[in-house]
Amino acid sequence: MKLNIEKIKQFVGKSVDFESTEHVKSLKHLDEEVFFADNVCVSGNVKNIGTGLFEVTGKIKTAVYYSCYRCLEKTRVSFNIDFSIKFSDLSFNIESKNEDVIRFSGDEIEILPQIINEIILNWPAQVLCKPDCKGLCQKCGANLNITECDCKRIQIDPRFAVLKKLKDVE
Ligand SMILES: [Zn+2]
Ligand SMILES: [Zn+2]
Repeated sequence: MKLNIEKIKQFVGKSVDFESTEHVKSLKHLDEEVFFADNVCVSGNVKNIGTGLFEVTGKIKTAVYYSCYRCLEKTRVSFNIDFSIKFSDLSFNIESKNEDVIRFSGDEIEILPQIINEIILNWPAQVLCKPDCKGLCQKCGANLNITECDCKRIQIDPRFAVLKKLKDVE
């Protein structure tokens, strides 16, 4: 996913719009390979902000398959991210101590690694397949969205509790 900046390279304050779509197979999140459910679409503009700096601003739209926090079923997770990243032209040779600046050289800026990074930074805290997902039975591991196992019924059935008491008395 390369942005051509030839037209604005010599002109501070100028910007150029772009729209780019790329098929990406997967990304790494917490050591897990996560597969994309959709292309990675990025649109926005790149602006020459002077002293060899170029600011890329725009929107990322994509989706991945990720495990539901409760039942572990793979679930489609959509991303709609606003971002802004600064790139620094190596030929300007400025001593930049700013960690947020990414170096590049030539007339093209490869933005895909930073786009993937933005997706990871915007990861949802909890992925749920549906808001009322019942999750897995902690005893037998059954998916409670699909089936009702016996473990839970035995635990909460009050009649069973009474019977147990009677037995204890005997
Ligand atoms: Zn679930
Ligand atoms: Zn169970």
